[in-house]
Amino acid sequence: MNIPEPLDIRSTQIVVVAHCLLNQNAKVAGLAAFPGAVEPLVALLMRHGVGVVQMPCPELVHLGPARPLGTDTVDQYDTPAYRGVCTRIADAVASEASAYASAGYSMLAVLGVEGSPSCGVSQVPVLEHGARVLRPGHGLFVQALATAFKGAGVPLPFIGVPEGPEAGDLEVVLGTIGETLGAKRARGHPARPPLTPGRHTA
Ligand code: SF4
Repeated sequence: MNIPEPLDIRSTQIVVVAHCLLNQNAKVAGLAAFPGAVEPLVALLMRHGVGVVQMPCPELVHLGPARPLGTDTVDQYDTPAYRGVCTRIADAVASEASAYASAGYSMLAVLGVEGSPSCGVSQVPVLEHGARVLRPGHGLFVQALATAFKGAGVPLPFIGVPEGPEAGDLEVVLGTIGETLGAKRARGHPARPPLTPGRHTA
């Protein structure tokens, strides 16, 4: 009996993204800049043919979807309980990334959210004299992710997608992401994970 070759055109290229980049419904009230996903980012990822691992939102896991504006600074979130949530999620994400990498997939980048107390890559909100201001720093979840990815042996670049104009220029960051994905893919990761006819179910 002839078993047909399975048709499989996966790119084996994957980016890991903060939850709200694909689901703005998870954001703190007042901070959703798109109805659903961050559309230009999704279009860019689709153009590059990369798969997307959507991380759980640690703030949503910790406090649920009804989080009012004004409760979202590093100072307010930095508690042992919340750091524990971040660590648990980060460990699970890093474990998944490690499994992909071990199977021959290319993990290209982690996309965080600039201006978030959790997912900020280089800018986070802090309380100063009772006001919320952005300052240089890493979000609490990004800190946990960096530790977990390092421990899992999967070093990845972190890129922060701005939450709003005060946190950066979205077009500029999309350009950076495009260059990063293009450069990584151009370096070549030709090895596809072996597909065994008859056993491949996904
Ligand atoms: S930036 Fe991070 S913590 Fe904030 S809503 Fe998005 S995924 Fe959740």
